[in-house]
Amino acid sequence: MTEGPRFRFAPSPTGSFHVGGARTALHNWALARRLGGTFVLRIEDTDEARNRLEWTEGIIDALAWIGVSADDDHFEGPHFQSEYAAAHITAASRLFESGAAYYCDLTGQEVQDRAKKLGITGYDGYSRDRGVEPGSGRVLRFRVPEGTTVVHDAVRGDVLFDNSTIEDFVLLRGNNTPMFLLANVVDDIEMRITDVVRAEEHLPNTPKQQMLWEALGAEPPRWAHVPVLVNEQRKKLSKRRDKVAVESYRDDGILADAMVNYLMTLGWTPPGAEEAGSEIFPWNELEAAFRLEDVTLSPAFFDVKKLVAFNKQYIKNLPLADFLAAVDADLPDDWDRQRFAAIAPHITERLERLGDAPALVEFLFLPDGADPDVDDAAWTKAAKPDWAGPFLVEIAEAYASFGPDEWRSDKLKATMEAVMLSYEIKLGKAQALPRVAVTGRSVGPPLFEALEVLGQNETLRRLRNAVTRMASKSEAD
Ligand code: GLU
Repeated sequence: MTEGPRFRFAPSPTGSFHVGGARTALHNWALARRLGGTFVLRIEDTDEARNRLEWTEGIIDALAWIGVSADDDHFEGPHFQSEYAAAHITAASRLFESGAAYYCDLTGQEVQDRAKKLGITGYDGYSRDRGVEPGSGRVLRFRVPEGTTVVHDAVRGDVLFDNSTIEDFVLLRGNNTPMFLLANVVDDIEMRITDVVRAEEHLPNTPKQQMLWEALGAEPPRWAHVPVLVNEQRKKLSKRRDKVAVESYRDDGILADAMVNYLMTLGWTPPGAEEAGSEIFPWNELEAAFRLEDVTLSPAFFDVKKLVAFNKQYIKNLPLADFLAAVDADLPDDWDRQRFAAIAPHITERLERLGDAPALVEFLFLPDGADPDVDDAAWTKAAKPDWAGPFLVEIAEAYASFGPDEWRSDKLKATMEAVMLSYEIKLGKAQALPRVAVTGRSVGPPLFEALEVLGQNETLRRLRNAVTRMASKSEAD
């Protein structure tokens, strides 16, 4: 039986889950699924000093959040590198037996001293033919052959490496533990990986790893190295400088679909995006269209503003029930969910993040008889025109005459339009003071829909309070 291609994602659980890692995972996921293959999750947990179980759990959770789900048929794992320790040692022994690797008994300091003396950088192959036997404190080095190593890379084409620029690199440390280069290759061979798609920063490792595949008698995988992510200053995204943790965007009210869509557009433009004037595409279309050959070579700017713009679109397009489910955790427990559902369709267009929702509508959820906190600057501006006071009085009177069944947004709007005619003002201006009076702010959901949800009694109470405030202001003037 032939099996489909086998991709892998091989994070080291040494910190929170990086957006660059998430993008690499998505590339592998899209390809494995489209090509009827497998996505292998391998946790490279052999750096014991830096690993933490919670980070492994965090990676798995964050992967599930972006849709890379362990329940999917294409998903295999997680496998843990630590479980392959015996295979790493066996492979090292084979390399030693075959002569592809040799032991060296120089200490790190001695290697440096030699390099200095010889005026070279790195290791000069001193022990290649000294017949050093294995032993404590002795490292196993790979005997880099002469010639050129050609890495076929799906993103970059053929990349040539002159082997004379590659030192005999270490496979096993002096305490017999494997280095990354060896463990990573042995795991890939053990897991029958056919395609390695990873970040560009690993490209310098690739000729060495390809030699290892060959020396171990295995056919090297297809390689692809995707460009790194950079920040606004075009510096590589870093944990210390930039917000890079996927979880932090999730906690900030970025929707998973928006994050996924945005990550996929970094270094790659979905076909049809230019014609459509938009890069917003559902996952199934991104998955169907993604090709490594179309990934650009230049570093990709991780633009948080653009991510937020994607998020805004996604929030706007969410079906109401999904929006209500997604935003629920951001709402105070004691808010009436039915009331929130009534205003929700009118605010989704105005949200950049889910967490922006409560502040926008909190004036609807105050205890009976409580007034919203009024933004003084907004009040002063809205109350300034001479007509503002008389207009407010008239609106309050007109709204007081509504019967209970008439308290609907369309009717509230029509009434305000009728009143404003004699003031020769436009609707935008007309709404300003009633809005601040009722909501406390100059921005918020559409006014008439908000008034409908707030109800007649509370609207009138707040409008009349505002009328009183205007009157005391003009007395003071
Ligand atoms: N653990 C390595 C990393 O996180 C894996 C590199 C690879 O994909 O081969 O960078």
